[in-house]
This record gives sequence, C-alpha cells and structure tokens, in this order.
Amino acid sequence: MDQNKTECPKCKSSEKVIKIVYGKPTAALVEQADRKEIILGGCRLSENPDNWYCQTCSHKFH
Ligand SMILES: [Zn+2]
Repeated sequence: MDQNKTECPKCKSSEKVIKIVYGKPTAALVEQADRKEIILGGCRLSENPDNWYCQTCSHKFH
C-alpha cells in the first residue's frame, strides 16, 4: 500500500489528496508546501489530528 496516496472518503478522489504535516516545518517541508505537495498543520498537539487534506473538496480526514 502506498502511504503517500489515499482516497478522500467524501469525494472518492485520490488525485489531490495531500498529507498534513505537523510539527516545526523544515525548509524542505516549506518548499513542499509551496508546491502544494503537503500542508503544514502547525505545532498543535491534538490527540487525533487529521492526516490528510483533499484539495478537491477541502475535506480533512485521517
Ligand atoms: Zn474530497
């Protein structure tokens, strides 16, 4: 199973689903975020953070 690809449960599309990365962003992560390959979720320590963001329908899920 490819860990970098997943399907949006809402619109069933996997094309524009990107990962939400938590914690302090490195320069490399900022670059990836600029290319819309990932989303920076910030440093908040939620107990059950969403890991994926669908750019097609703006749905966050995990
Ligand atoms: Zn979606």
